[in-house]
Amino acid sequence: MVLIGLMMRQVLSHPNCPECGGDRIRPVDMRTATLVVDGEKVPAAWMYRQCQGCQARLKWDIGQDKWVELEPGEWEEVIRNAEEIPS
Ligand SMILES: [Zn+2]
Repeated sequence: MVLIGLMMRQVLSHPNCPECGGDRIRPVDMRTATLVVDGEKVPAAWMYRQCQGCQARLKWDIGQDKWVELEPGEWEEVIRNAEEIPS
């Protein structure tokens, strides 16, 4: 429940674009995973966002509370999966 509260807070907050400082950032998708750190399972979640100003592709690590680097090809995979969600 702590994680869900944390996630809601982050989803509702609007960090500015790290590239151009703009605040028009569109949420694209959200992912969760369970990482194993030092033998312990740690829940992790990321928000994928795109800046409407400079078109930067952004990944927000909800647990670390900061922007993180995208893996090569990761954005394309997120977009592909996001489009499968019926609107
Ligand atoms: Zn930007």
